[in-house]
Amino acid sequence: MHINDAVFLEDLCPKFRLRQWRKSIHKFTGQSCIYCGKPSESIDHVLPRSQGGLSTTENCVPACLSCNGDKSDENALYWYRRQRFYDPRRAMAIRAWLEGDLRLAIRLLQWANSNFKVSNKNFKKDESEYKAA
Ligand SMILES: [Zn+2]
Repeated sequence: MHINDAVFLEDLCPKFRLRQWRKSIHKFTGQSCIYCGKPSESIDHVLPRSQGGLSTTENCVPACLSCNGDKSDENALYWYRRQRFYDPRRAMAIRAWLEGDLRLAIRLLQWANSNFKVSNKNFKKDESEYKAA
């Protein structure tokens, strides 16, 4: 091996590049599932690979295992519309992501996430009141 070849670690080691890419995708949403807001543990192909979907950032979104598994090979937007946690802002974010407008997608997700936290807090409050009763 020529010594200059060693400079390009990413080219020599595609797995390293893949890992960096996956990390960056999770970072965009603060490690949360684009569909439901839970911790993202996987990368979901919005257009499934079985239907010709590519492993590009525009087609790959951070998802929790439950969403990723449940959605399976279905069209993401059709599947998402039927979910209990459906949020139109997230649907818009997914669409923006697919169009490659990650900045808009992240803004919409932050908007949806702030509400998610508030409703979570209310839920906890209700629960403690219930226990106290
Ligand atoms: Zn999820």
